[in-house]
Amino acid sequence: MPASDSGAPLWIVAVTGGVGSGKSTVARAFAELGAHVIDADAISREVVDSPGVRSRLEDAFGTAMTTADGSLDRKALADLVFTDRGARERLDAIVHPEVRRRIDKELAHLAARGSDEASPLPGKRPLVLLDIPLLETSPFHDRADVVLFVDAPPRDRRRRVAEARGWPPEELTRREDSQVPIDEKRSRAHRVLPNFDGAEGELAGNCRALIAEWCAALATDRDTNC
Ligand code: ADP
Repeated sequence: MPASDSGAPLWIVAVTGGVGSGKSTVARAFAELGAHVIDADAISREVVDSPGVRSRLEDAFGTAMTTADGSLDRKALADLVFTDRGARERLDAIVHPEVRRRIDKELAHLAARGSDEASPLPGKRPLVLLDIPLLETSPFHDRADVVLFVDAPPRDRRRRVAEARGWPPEELTRREDSQVPIDEKRSRAHRVLPNFDGAEGELAGNCRALIAEWCAALATDRDTNC
């Protein structure tokens, strides 16, 4: 169980699942119940805009990845890396170590801070929710106490990303082809959280039920707050 030398052990829950399955939606539901969410996508966006990483990206991919106003052309970069495996590996080698370093730093900070008033867990033990799209190939899969697979059928996921992100149907397949297969994500997870279209109403209740389970498992005789 991950713990810091200097503070309270964290209870780390990581979400995984297909693109558009609802990982961020689940993360938001847990945030409302007192979890501290670490969003690797948001961290990646900060990292690719940081000056050191920007100049390494320019060295690797040239100025074709820069828009007229000087900002990073995310669309051009996505088009390149989802069609060119070598380019994706070069991008990952530049961006991932820094994203991991920032996640590690945040985990260490939360552990050193100790108990978290917002946490629903016994003793206000910090509940941390990791939303990391490439969880299985990161060191954080093994560091999580619980890995939750968010389950939604491809048809629902295709509809959602078309509606929310304007993606054509083949875009979801193109992105998932570059990831760990979905069956492997599911089989390596500890729990499955259904989130098919129409299950939105049950999501908060299912997250609450999971927290109640963790509370029961983690409670000691002195704990009264679950
Ligand atoms: P992910 O993080 O797994 O890519 P998101 O949480 O961003 O997925 O969800 C993708 C889209 O689907 C969002 O617009 C979200 O509001 C919507 N969505 C999530 N869960 C459901 C659901 N159960 N029913 C309908 N739409 C949903």
